[in-house]
Amino acid sequence: MRKCKVRFAPSPTGPLHIGGARSALFNYLFAEHQGGEMVMRIEDTDLERSRREYEDEIIESLQWLGIHWSEGIAMGGENGPYRQTERLDIYQQYYKELLDKGMAYYCFCTLEELEKERQEQIASGKMQRYSGKCSELSNQEVEERIQAGIKPSIRFRVPQHRIYVIDDLVRGRVSFESDNSGDFIIVKSDGIPVYNFGVVIDDILMGITHVIRAEEHLSNTPRQIMLYEALNSPRPEFAHISLILGSDRQKMSKRHGATSLKQYRELGYLPEAMFNFLALLGWSPSGEEEILSAQEIIKHFTLDRVAKSPAVFDLDKLNWVNQQYLKKKSVEELAEMLKPYLAASEYAADIEKLDEFSYMLLVEAVRDHLVCLSDITKFMDVFFREAVFEEEALQILKEETAITVLEYFKEELPQLSEFAEAKEFIKALVKKLGLKAKNVYMPLRSALSGQTHGPELPFLILIWGREECLRRIDKAIAAIR
Ligand code: GLU
Repeated sequence: MRKCKVRFAPSPTGPLHIGGARSALFNYLFAEHQGGEMVMRIEDTDLERSRREYEDEIIESLQWLGIHWSEGIAMGGENGPYRQTERLDIYQQYYKELLDKGMAYYCFCTLEELEKERQEQIASGKMQRYSGKCSELSNQEVEERIQAGIKPSIRFRVPQHRIYVIDDLVRGRVSFESDNSGDFIIVKSDGIPVYNFGVVIDDILMGITHVIRAEEHLSNTPRQIMLYEALNSPRPEFAHISLILGSDRQKMSKRHGATSLKQYRELGYLPEAMFNFLALLGWSPSGEEEILSAQEIIKHFTLDRVAKSPAVFDLDKLNWVNQQYLKKKSVEELAEMLKPYLAASEYAADIEKLDEFSYMLLVEAVRDHLVCLSDITKFMDVFFREAVFEEEALQILKEETAITVLEYFKEELPQLSEFAEAKEFIKALVKKLGLKAKNVYMPLRSALSGQTHGPELPFLILIWGREECLRRIDKAIAAIR
């Protein structure tokens, strides 16, 4: 059996969106599952909107996500070049062939003429499609117009009264009547082929066996099938995967928050979490377990478990998945990953002053609260800001035994250096004072941080050190007096 070969063919007209990343991922998973190959091609024939920065960003995002291709852009291969604007001479051979065979023809209609035609069709309630006005021009008429300097586009002559059937691997059987389509443009008047043409030539020449892409391209598929037929080429299998909707069931857009992979990367979502989460956007494993490694997903990925109905992007779920992956990291790994976020924050100088041990403690103190890495800065105030006493904290400090606790703490506090030791010290304090644990912990926390909630006390005491703790206690005592 022929090895399967898929491709991801983004247009570099914007950053890589969640939907594009999911299409790339499904191609990758399908190919890896079958031991096949993946091509990465850049469809940049929209000259106005395509940008090299976007191309770079798409490549970077895919690599970050952990998607690898064996052939294509940034990689090379025997079917290159892999940027469509560098393949124009290749396309020319093929549209010339279609022109020679009379399967395509030059069209000299101007935009104004086409618009007029369209308006007339609307007014008379007819189907809107090209009338075929230029389809029967003689060679001489064509020649004259070209000589007169009119730049023609090229249209494909759509076969009449045909029904095209696609057995889509996700959507099932879908059919289209050719009579619903007018002759369509395959090359624009500037000589640049349109998407539907370039994509077919490239998929043929690159030996693509399976086209897995977004549902929005289903309506392009009949035109592409017509071209495969005209070029006498077997067509690939098609799989059109459903849209991704926001949690309000509307099409994903900026309103729903971050939409590009780069944004999620910058927020500090982990690539393995994103990989796992995106795989579940429309595909489901047979078991209950949802936290799956790339290897496990590849092992189980088949198109028959890809849903026909739209996938819903659930940020809470992504957050949950990301937390599961954050939990798997060691403190040392997390500490390293958090550095750039802290270095770019208002706490950079404070963090700089911490010794390695205190920095590790700080990471350990807050790690369970992180949804993504950039969250780290939300939890830094308590460590580095002067205590501002919350009303609730003041109430606790005004309780009868509070002052005794603070005085006692001041007298007894040694220079501590271990978490267990600090924990032990407070426990011993509780015992000596003969109070309820709460009546020792709460005044201490309130006095030291000004708050009634926050990281465990031993973390705070160790990170601040003895002197800073005493200074804070004195300040609290002054505040209650
Ligand atoms: N360049 C197209 C897009 O970005 C690719 C469509 C396809 O995969 O055929 O939507």
